[in-house]
Parts: sequence; structure tokens; C-alpha cells
Amino acid sequence: MTTNRSRYDVVVVGGRVAGSATAMLLARLGHDVVVLDQASFPSDTISTHSIARSGVVQLQRWGLLDAVTGSGAPAIRQVTFHALGESVSRTIKHKAGVGFLVAPRRYVLDTILAAAAGRAGADVRHGVTVTGVQRDRHGRVAGVYGHDRDGAGIDIGARYVIGADGLRSRVARSVGAAINEARPAAGAIQYAYYAGIRWTGMEFFVAERSFAGVFPTHHGQACIWVCTPSADAQAVRRRTGSRAEAFGELLERSAPQLTERLRHARRTSPVHGMLRMPNQLRQAFGPGWALVGDAGYHRDAVTAHGISDAFRDAELLAVAVDQALSAGAEETAALALYQRQRDEALREIFEITCRLAAYPAVPAFIELQKQLSAANDAEATALASWPIPGERLLATA
Ligand SMILES: Cc1cc2nc3c(=O)[nH]c(=O)nc-3n(C[C@H](O)[C@H](O)[C@H](O)COP(=O)(O)OP(=O)(O)OC[C@H]3O[C@@H](n4cnc5c(N)ncnc54)[C@H](O)[C@@H]3O)c2cc1C
Repeated sequence: MTTNRSRYDVVVVGGRVAGSATAMLLARLGHDVVVLDQASFPSDTISTHSIARSGVVQLQRWGLLDAVTGSGAPAIRQVTFHALGESVSRTIKHKAGVGFLVAPRRYVLDTILAAAAGRAGADVRHGVTVTGVQRDRHGRVAGVYGHDRDGAGIDIGARYVIGADGLRSRVARSVGAAINEARPAAGAIQYAYYAGIRWTGMEFFVAERSFAGVFPTHHGQACIWVCTPSADAQAVRRRTGSRAEAFGELLERSAPQLTERLRHARRTSPVHGMLRMPNQLRQAFGPGWALVGDAGYHRDAVTAHGISDAFRDAELLAVAVDQALSAGAEETAALALYQRQRDEALREIFEITCRLAAYPAVPAFIELQKQLSAANDAEATALASWPIPGERLLATA
């Protein structure tokens, strides 16, 4: 049985950082948008959650940074690097309009974005699974179908279908989006939450074939994580009795000082993580469809840049779709510009990510971290100068 048949300008599949941000911006630009996500909100997803300066700039420009800090995510004003027997702390400078970083839990951040999309006028529907795309008689994508939690059919027509449904995107598979570039997928990350000790800011620990760290987050807790080659994570896991034991061993090897401090803390979550993280770019658009976020571009978590990538590309895509829908721009030109801008904007940090995920010797790893810091600042400065889509509606954010 099919229920809920309806029609929108845009249907966005996936409602987390990429999907809700895109829907919010399109709704602020005056379009009729629906966001569908199979998950219930608030809910977590497998991800640590440090937001790079460029992502914090986006939250600020979109009028959402106060909601993030108001949720209890601490403003992070100090970063400490531990490497080669030395520890260097620096205060986060005020640049591109922001003077701190944040690492909000995803169940908080994604819910703030979904609520902002709703307030902007998007129809936000959770518990809806999209199973495929509809096409018109010319083969153009013209909507989606799927079902809600009770199994009732969903059939939604739209001028554009946006796949913001993550790495294993159903939309990307349904439209046959090509993978235009793929690099080795050899990196892994494991993480867990700890409470009970004081965190002074973000910390990073560089060691041979590993990178570990601390992201302070809500309720006095911190996300403790360790990135390594997947082969190392798998070898340790095979030797140990549990994920928690393997995590402890990887952390001890990467950051013994941190392990020592954690003896006075309490682990408050299971260990989560991901092996063999893809580094890939998918074709970003076709007739009636486009991809944003991890659905279109995925990179190793070693640079903690996926949320910021999603925010940047959500804005590029929202502007392109707005052009195609209302400014009389030619659709292919507008969406081709989106793909070109995305591919140019991600390039420098993508290259750094791929090189870091190959775990070069410590001095080279540190040099790449310096390049990453400069690239993050340059990206933040560029974003801060963009016009804000739907700015007149910011007061209602
Ligand atoms: C372990 C790990 C650590 C990370 N750490 C960081 C970090 O510290 N900082 C950072 O910036 N980035 C980090 N990232 C990257 C970041 O998590 C991603 O880039 C980001 O989540 C991408 O957001 P998205 O909205 O594109 O996709 P997702 O967050 O994957 O959301 C996709 C949504 O689509 C929904 N969906 C999927 N299929 C369907 C369907 N068929 N129908 C309906 N809904 C569907 C899902 O329910 C989900 O809610 C990390 C990633 C991993 C794996």
C-alpha cells in the first residue's frame, strides 16, 4: 500500500550534518523541501566530532553556533600537541570570526541542524527509509520511494533528489553515481568516552604509525580516540580478548601519558570505530539528482574534517540548486559548477588526509599537521567571506 504521496521542489535523503544543512539552506532560500531519514532523532552515529575552524565558521554564519555552545558543548580554547618527547600548547586564535573550536556529540549537533531545517520550513520526517529513486519517461530522476517504520509505502515526487545518506548511499547506488577517484583505504579509528578527570582542551599525540587524542565534549566527558593503519588495529584485535582491550593496547602504544591519566577516569561508553576508511570522490550530480556529504566524498577520519566538508558542500549545493530552481540558470551548468567547486575546495585537505592516513615517519607526520592547520585556516577565511544564503531568515534560525 502506498501512502503519503506528495510533491516537493527537493527531497533530501539523509538528515544529519549534510542533509539537514542542505535542507535548511534551501528552505531559507524559499524552496519547498522534505528531509527523510531512516533514523530516529536524537540519535548517535559512528563518528568522533571535533569540528574544524571552517565548520565552526559555518555554524556561526548560519546562526547555529550559540545553540551548539548552549547545548553544553564546551568552547575549546587550547590545543596541545605531544610528539617526540615534547608537549606544545597553544591558544586558539580569533580568526575568520571565531575564537574557539567545539566537539559536540553527534546526537546533539545533528538534532540542532534538523530542528533548524524544520524552523526554516523544511518538512523533516524521521523513521522513513528510502529504497530507490523514481524516474520519469526520459530517465530523469523524479522522486523517491520507500516506507515508514510501520511498513507504509512512501512515494514522493520532486524536481531534485539529494542523496545525503552517507558513505553507503542508497541514492548514489540507485542513480549509478560513478566513483571518480579512489585512493587506498588503509586507515582505522577507534574511540570511547571517558569521564571523571579534567580536560584542558584538545590534545593530540603523535607516535610511529599512530595518532591519538582528546576531544572534550558534553557533561565533562571527552572522546578519546586513536587512529592507526587498519592492519595494526586488526592485528591487535586478533591478539586481544575484546575491543576494549585492543583499544587500551593501541592507546598505550600511541599515548602512554594519556593512558596513565585515564587510569583515574571512567570509561562511559563501549569502544566504537571503523576499519579501512575509504578515500573517494563520487560523481556529484546527474539529471534530477545530486550527492552531498559522505555520499559524495569520503575521507579518512585522521584529519577530522568530514563535518566541515559536509557543511561547506551543503552550502555550495544549496546555492547551485537554488540557481537551477529559481534563477533560471541552466541546470547542468549550475550543478557542474557545484561539482567543480566541491572538487577544488576539498583538494588540499584531501591530499593531506591521504598522506597522513599512510602514517609516514613522525617528523613528516608533524609537517603534514602544520600544513593541515594552515589549510584549515585558509578554508575558514574563505568561507567567512561568502554571502550567507537566505540571510534575511537568520533571525528565525
Ligand atoms: C569513526 C569516525 C570518526 C569521525 N570523526 C570525525 C571528526 O572528529 N570530525 C569530523 O568533522 N568528521 C569526522 N568523521 C566524519 C563524519 O562523521 C562524516 O563526514 C559525517 O558524518 C558525514 O555526514 P553525512 O550527513 O554526509 O552522513 P551521515 O552522518 O552518515 O548521515 C547519513 C544519514 O542518512 C541516513 N540514511 C542512510 N540511508 C538512508 C535511506 N536509505 N533512507 C533514509 N535515510 C538514510 C542515515 O540514517 C543517516 O542519518 C568521522 C567519521 C568516522 C567514521
